[in-house]
Amino acid sequence: MKFQPKASHFINGEYVEDTSGAPIDVIYPATGEVIARLHSATPAIVDQALNSAKAAQAEWAAMSGTERGRVLRRAADIMRERNRELSIIETHDTGKPLQETLVADATSGADALEYFGGMAASLTGEHIPLGGGDFVYTIREALGVCVGIGAWNYPTQIACWKGAPALACGNTMVFKPSETTPLSALQVAEILIEAGAPKGVYNVIQGYGDVGASLVTDARVAKVSLTGSVPTGRKVYAAAADGMKHVTMELGGKSPMIVFADADIENAVSGAILGNFYSSGQVCSNGTRVFVQKGIKEAFLKRLSERLATAKIGDPLDEEVNFGPMVSENQMNIALGYVEKGKSEGARLVYGGERIEGDGFYMQPTVFADVTDDMAIAREEIFGPVMSVLDFETEEEVLARANDTEFGLAAGVFTNDVTRAHRIVAGFEAGTCYINTYNLAPVEAPFGGSKMSGVGRENSKLAINHFSEMKTVYVSMNDVEAPY
Ligand code: NAD
Repeated sequence: MKFQPKASHFINGEYVEDTSGAPIDVIYPATGEVIARLHSATPAIVDQALNSAKAAQAEWAAMSGTERGRVLRRAADIMRERNRELSIIETHDTGKPLQETLVADATSGADALEYFGGMAASLTGEHIPLGGGDFVYTIREALGVCVGIGAWNYPTQIACWKGAPALACGNTMVFKPSETTPLSALQVAEILIEAGAPKGVYNVIQGYGDVGASLVTDARVAKVSLTGSVPTGRKVYAAAADGMKHVTMELGGKSPMIVFADADIENAVSGAILGNFYSSGQVCSNGTRVFVQKGIKEAFLKRLSERLATAKIGDPLDEEVNFGPMVSENQMNIALGYVEKGKSEGARLVYGGERIEGDGFYMQPTVFADVTDDMAIAREEIFGPVMSVLDFETEEEVLARANDTEFGLAAGVFTNDVTRAHRIVAGFEAGTCYINTYNLAPVEAPFGGSKMSGVGRENSKLAINHFSEMKTVYVSMNDVEAPY
């Protein structure tokens, strides 16, 4: 098969197979063709991976930050050198157009490896003077073995966004990619070894939810970082709580994007396109509730439709194509099901709405207008290319409606009124906000959600606090005073 890796798992620096695990067929979403067959980890494989990570951790943590950082930065360079090859794998795994994967997957993973690699040498504790000569110093310590569990939309990026800060802090990792997109994390593991990482520092095992669940409850694990849906997040958070483990939860969203009448319409349409149709709409932070102020609604819809008509839908390996298939038949059917719900709830279908016939899992970019707050398409995460356009009149009204959701991942506002932009952002209940742009996630900036969209932050300096803890050391320079 075209993309068959040497084996399903990568443990202690080597590919490892156990064909007694449940089969995982990797399907190329553009054609429906099976391109690789892997196997879910058996309990013996889970055990082997955790032992490998546990055994490697002390040695890795004992290396200097400079040495650890050098490994990560070398891995970043290798990823960039192999960007095209890695992007082709990512496109086959996810169906995302090569035009996207060339600039948003291995490159984003490399950014994380470079950023946290650069930071590794400067991770320190602090000195706290207490008066009278006494002082406290803090030691920043690794947590131990960290588990990363990934979603299928950005497999390389997720593998690196979790792995890079974890490793920079001196932790080791067992990463379980989504069963839908298992290929690229193996590449990340190989590259880290090539870059000089000691064996066992970064292990990859495949599997369905049960494998993820067995990792979360294992006593050898100190921290779990999940990217996935809210229902999975709830289960993983609860399971991790039992062992008082650290968690980072990067979960789903139903984010608002507000377009005021004074906004630059062309930019707002661009933001709405990026925030609804990039990666065929399979992005957690998408602004799928687009609130457009009355007065510009029809102009906005007209420009949106005109520009959507120029999307190049087709073979994701053709670099001219900028809208590919959805990741799986199942995900496509979920999105098409929401199109039917939208129609039956009385929303006005403005664009698309159909499956594109063929073997691949393609559907048209879809826009509904006249959507009301109570409709399922306005309340539930669809995770597909379905945009809901809602009307609003006043700032106060739209902010309350934008926040009226259990989710809080992202939120955006388009306006040329600078004070209003900051007022709106101050009122947003969301972890990541955008003014006059949408869906950027550079490694330098914290990324994560509020409310049901998650806990913790990835990227930026903040990620370090989620992969390390402080030991406080009290030092007395004086005699010890005791009451008796
Ligand atoms: P999912 O929740 O179905 O699965 C996520 C991962 O969790 C998979 O690897 C799966 O095998 C594993 N899993 C499932 N049940 C488990 C359990 N009980 N214990 C441990 N692991 C378990 O999500 P998905 O369909 O792969 O991805 C789509 C979802 O991910 C969407 O909701 C999307 O919004 C979210 N997402 C969030 C972000 C973010 O950064 N906030 C990024 C991408 C995707």
